[in-house]
Amino acid sequence: MGSALCRPFGLRTQGQTWRARRTRRALTARALECYLIALRSRDARAPDVTATLSSKLYDQAARLFPGGVNSPVRAWRNVEATPLFIARARGATITDVDGRTYCDLVGSWGAAIAGHAHPRVVAAVQAAAAAGLGYGAPCPAEVELGRAVAAAVPSLERMRMVSSGTEAVMSAVRVARAFTNRPRILKFAGCYHGHSDGLLARAGSGALTFGVPDSAGIPEAITSFTLVASYNAAAEAEAFVDAHGDSLAAVVIEPIAANMGVVPPEPGFLDRLRALTMACGALLVFDEVITGFRVAPGGAQELLGVTPDLTCLGKIIGGGLPVGCFGGRADVMAMLAPDGPVYQAGTLSGNPVAMAAGRETLALLDGRAYARLEALGARAEEGLVAALADSGRRGVVRRVGSMLTLFLGIDRARSYADVEGVDRAAFRRFFHGMLARGFYLPPSPFEASFLSLAHTEADVDAYVAAARAVLTEP
Ligand code: PMP
Repeated sequence: MGSALCRPFGLRTQGQTWRARRTRRALTARALECYLIALRSRDARAPDVTATLSSKLYDQAARLFPGGVNSPVRAWRNVEATPLFIARARGATITDVDGRTYCDLVGSWGAAIAGHAHPRVVAAVQAAAAAGLGYGAPCPAEVELGRAVAAAVPSLERMRMVSSGTEAVMSAVRVARAFTNRPRILKFAGCYHGHSDGLLARAGSGALTFGVPDSAGIPEAITSFTLVASYNAAAEAEAFVDAHGDSLAAVVIEPIAANMGVVPPEPGFLDRLRALTMACGALLVFDEVITGFRVAPGGAQELLGVTPDLTCLGKIIGGGLPVGCFGGRADVMAMLAPDGPVYQAGTLSGNPVAMAAGRETLALLDGRAYARLEALGARAEEGLVAALADSGRRGVVRRVGSMLTLFLGIDRARSYADVEGVDRAAFRRFFHGMLARGFYLPPSPFEASFLSLAHTEADVDAYVAAARAVLTEP
């Protein structure tokens, strides 16, 4: 093993020909593999590994991508560390480029419900890829995934496939505005609906107020059409509807919030929103990008028995590949081009490889699968609650099915105002303690942890035991 080959960075080749570039790529890939082998085998000739390969890659990445990442929460700022770079993931585990394997509770942020690289999903992707990576034309897999989605979520009378959750919610709001011919939307503090301009507003204190942008680069004029109420505060929503019902196009909500950590709706809250929207002529839009196919085949709307006008999906329906979807009432969706006047389009929408991954993933999610996910989730919750109580630490666990959050430092988590009070330092310690024990958790106190069909009871018990150990550390 030549030392030059083992130096994955700073590799220099001359010449700009295609052949030279191909050789350089091959060398770099070979060098990386060689480096990993040397590292794992503790080869005496291995290069200096005082820094991890993850940290070296992070240095490189920071010169390419703002913050070293292509999506901000991955940067691990909340836990005051730099991220692990991932080499591979399989089943319930994820392995970093330094060869360390962890039990994964991130699950590609909820997409990996069947576990990573499920053989059936991989085979479906390979078969689809072999038939062409994309056509920019209708293909059978779109119809197959669409039929599977419609069968599970009957409120989706018509739907459109897109490439991300952001795109799905942004487009659903556009359709709702066109259908109602009204400009305003009402959302809830702590709910995330992707990063389109009008949805990046949550209001500071949960007071009745017009939205202020959460991000630079968004004119206040845009978020002034976004009203923000507190989650689980039906009276606030009602006050908005009283004041602005005539100009309200849609109420947009995560029916089970998961982007401030898991915060389920209080009994009756969603029913109240259903009644309010019907009374004022606004549409009810459920953002089920996380909850769709996670909490039940029909998502939160099936679990909780409240039917929205429009639904947004993502994550699981792409089986790990980039897919979003929005849909709902046929009369509302008829607004969409080419049938109607609302323009929305996507070069890669309905991509055959992504459709195949989604279709195969949904095929794995039968009744037994959901029973298993519920059992694993309940086991994790029970264990964490007991560990928390025994540790004497303040905290609360909130869970729906296979997604859960341990909030440290607070006693109740029903709204964004509640969860804002979490003990961030305690979370940081918890995160790093769990990582050291082999558990890869979301690097923020405001995220859900996800279990998958690949996790076992033993995984859950080990996770609980690790949590107990970390929580009882002085
Ligand atoms: N809505 C919800 C509820 C989400 O959780 C997310 C992403 N976490 C989005 C929308 C945006 O999806 P994407 O990241 O695919 O754009």
